[in-house]
Amino acid sequence: METPGHLIVDIARLQPEGEIFSGETAAGLMDMGARAICEPVGGIAYQIHVEQIGQELLARGRVSLGFRCACSRCGESFALEVVETAFFADFEVTAGTEFVDLTPEMREAIMLALPGYPVCREDCKGLCARCGANRNRETCTCGPALDGSWAALDLLVKR
Ligand SMILES: [Zn+2]
Ligand SMILES: [Zn+2]
Repeated sequence: METPGHLIVDIARLQPEGEIFSGETAAGLMDMGARAICEPVGGIAYQIHVEQIGQELLARGRVSLGFRCACSRCGESFALEVVETAFFADFEVTAGTEFVDLTPEMREAIMLALPGYPVCREDCKGLCARCGANRNRETCTCGPALDGSWAALDLLVKR
């Protein structure tokens, strides 16, 4: 079984007391689907302890992947490092199991750890809803954004 860049455990060669695998996969995520707002940069870095206990292969450790994302508030491009320190996966090992590929589980863990609405910084002010100015960089003359809470306040004041 040859899949370059995957983390594949050869069951026959695995140390009985378990082993730590560390390195980087050749490529990051193949299919970002709906999360296309972030593009992976490079491969998934991993440090994973793998151990066979009876008919189970247990893998736990740390996986991380760098992304280039578009901020969901202001649209600016920024670098984001997604780290999952509590990666865990288990696989059934039968008499016929020769290899176990951990790569799909590592990808899934990264996807789950990736924020749904990534922001370039916690206090990103976003774009002005009226003129489109990036409010991190410039102060436009439109005044406060008319989002839900302000609109409600406006109504109260007018009464
Ligand atoms: Zn932003
Ligand atoms: Zn404005």
